[in-house]
Amino acid sequence: MTEYEPVIGLEMHAELMTESKMFSKAKVVDSVEAAPNTAVSPLCLGMPGTLPVINEKAVEYATRVALALNCEINHHNIFARKNYFYPDLPKGYQISQYEQPLGVNGWLDIELESGETKRIGIRRVHMEEDTGKLTHQDDGTSLVDYNRAGVPLLEIVTEPDIRSGEEARAYAMKVRQILRYLGVNSGDMEKGVLRVEPNISIRPVGSTEFGTRTELKNLNSFRVLADGTAFEIARQTAVLQSGGKVVQETRGWHDTRRETFSQRTKEEAEDYRYFPEPDLPPLHLDDAWIEAVRASLPELPDVKVARYMADYELSEYDSRVLSEERAVGEWFDTAVTAGGIPKSVANWMINELFRLMNEAKLSIDAIQVTPAALVELIGLVDKQTINNNTAKDVLAEMFTSGTAPTQIVEAKRLAQISDNAALQAIIDQILDDNAEQVARYLEGQEKLRGFFVGQVMRQTKGKANPGLVNQLLDSALDAKK
Ligand code: ADP
Ligand code: MG
Repeated sequence: MTEYEPVIGLEMHAELMTESKMFSKAKVVDSVEAAPNTAVSPLCLGMPGTLPVINEKAVEYATRVALALNCEINHHNIFARKNYFYPDLPKGYQISQYEQPLGVNGWLDIELESGETKRIGIRRVHMEEDTGKLTHQDDGTSLVDYNRAGVPLLEIVTEPDIRSGEEARAYAMKVRQILRYLGVNSGDMEKGVLRVEPNISIRPVGSTEFGTRTELKNLNSFRVLADGTAFEIARQTAVLQSGGKVVQETRGWHDTRRETFSQRTKEEAEDYRYFPEPDLPPLHLDDAWIEAVRASLPELPDVKVARYMADYELSEYDSRVLSEERAVGEWFDTAVTAGGIPKSVANWMINELFRLMNEAKLSIDAIQVTPAALVELIGLVDKQTINNNTAKDVLAEMFTSGTAPTQIVEAKRLAQISDNAALQAIIDQILDDNAEQVARYLEGQEKLRGFFVGQVMRQTKGKANPGLVNQLLDSALDAKK
């Protein structure tokens, strides 16, 4: 039987978190929290006599994304009318970009589970406006909310370089990470501010031509992206293997049946009767402006990962964990600047701080522990003022109260007992009280050594310096041989 390989290209739509809409002064509001139709202007509603004005901030945000995705920026930008009738589009057309989009010929490297890196080509990044939102009700009527109509929207389109559901997912997650780094989109897919649409076809392995594609719409999570893509690959394979033909169409995802279904046969570009938007002049971006936007970009995840590996000798895994979110990386960097040893700070963050954050469901900008306070805590361990286990308890306390570690250690008298004489007295007492165990130890039951250490820790409430305990205990036991 013929073997097929998938060919996938992804379109992503990202709303931009500007104050106002793409072409009007109406506010951009949270589509879930705001009451319907409370953030609309006459322009959003397509009233006669209204004229669009380009939102400079939206152009800046869009340019940030295009630059971060390694695109060439077109100096001469044209807006175009994309005409179609639908109740969520009161103007009867969407202002988009067609022939001269903002960014072209970009790329993004993704990491695969195998550890390999793959470069995905980015065909175009263009600016447009979002449509309103329809809610279909059980009684057959539909409600429309125009708060979303006119919200700045970015469309990011890849080359057909993706070859599996896993790659599609890795690419989409990385775009989301970059949008969040850039501060232009929250990445809240469940709110619909970020949407992913895979175009999927299959072809015989070895063939260089593309097969007929279908496009999956309205996938609202990365899991659905992976599952829907896998389903579609299997469906198309079955169609071709049984001698059928794949129909070019738009398909939706049925979440309970977990399958795709046909929505409409694909319209061609001609159907939209694109033409240059007569109400907007071409938008010219000069080099100085573009370079100023480039200079304002934050350090991006891959660069951060490479820096942590090269400068701090962290593992790739740890570096990726710390770079997952921009705020986490900045927190780590601040701790290192405050004098923390990178490897220790990384370990404390990944093993202890993230656990506390997960339990409390708090993000790093919402916690009371400061980077300097963590460095102070690590310093107390390094100076042997407290041992590692005590330090974990102190961190938990810092996490709930925001108190400085030194203060907690003093107030609770947690400082380690490193006093030779005091520890010696405790050890002697324990060996006296447990003569029978000592005898068994001397007869060869060496495991009892752990029992003695445990007793010392119990008596000192865990505060004994473990190194010193081991040393004193060994000589005390030796003396009894
Ligand atoms: P449209 O605007 O009609 O959706 P585009 O040319 O913008 O078409 O392509 C949309 C996406 O589909 C792009 O990501 C592109 O890489 C991808 N694509 C194009 N042809 C195929 C194909 N035969 N199989 C899979 N993906 C494809
Ligand atoms: Mg499309």
